Amino acid sequence: MKRILVVANWKMNLNTHEASTLLHRYHQHIATHRDIEVVVAPSLLSLQPLSVEMDRHRFRLASQDAYFKDEGSYTGEVSFAMLRDLVHYGIVGHSARRVYFGETLEVIREKVAAAVRNGITPILCIGETKQERDAGETKQVIHDHLTTALKNITSDEIENIVIAYEPIWAISTFDGEPAKPSDMQKAIEYIRFQIKELYGERAAKAVRVLYGGSVSDDDASVFLGIPGCDGVLVGAASLNYAKFTGIVDAAYRLARERRPS
Ligand code: PEP
Repeated sequence: MKRILVVANWKMNLNTHEASTLLHRYHQHIATHRDIEVVVAPSLLSLQPLSVEMDRHRFRLASQDAYFKDEGSYTGEVSFAMLRDLVHYGIVGHSARRVYFGETLEVIREKVAAAVRNGITPILCIGETKQERDAGETKQVIHDHLTTALKNITSDEIENIVIAYEPIWAISTFDGEPAKPSDMQKAIEYIRFQIKELYGERAAKAVRVLYGGSVSDDDASVFLGIPGCDGVLVGAASLNYAKFTGIVDAAYRLARERRPS
């Protein structure tokens, strides 16, 4: 059985002290669970201190971004190679990187490869803009994002990649429109179909696919319950203790229902 993945993306919020306080509060509520993995992606600055404070049986760390070269004269950058002993996961190609920082699909492809090369599991974010959705281009965008980003990935590596479907229009920072679970299910099915086309049936089943976009405690169970959805990537609600622990509780309930008694 695949473990349910709940990822907290704190984005550019919380200084190191605040991050440590929130993590401490998470510790009070979130227990080790064999069927659930809770991942925290704080700012780059907080990764090191949180890695020391964190109970690694309960949480895993993720980077929000990193550069694809391992080392060199790239002022201001931090590489996946530098993060390899700190994080288990690395978010790659988040829409904020694409929209605000002009990150191209080719750069995302290099970053996916760099994460894998350094033993970090990429959480590859894909998803269309509102304009693309309105033009009926959702499937085309999913196809293009996947085929480009995964170009350097072998069939041995693909099963260890997480794909987060995050339609840009559903992310709170952008339009934050409510997403329909039926549409999300179709998109997730299409992602698995594309993985099957590229890597075969086994990989399509094994790869973990998450949903992300304004998930909160009141609708987490709906998104987590979508067939084929292996977890959620949570932005704004992950900064709120009550909302985030409510989302983790929804994952606990689902795991209990799924486990044969
Ligand atoms: C995100 O930025 O990855 C995200 C899903 O944000 P939010 O939950 O705030 O929409």
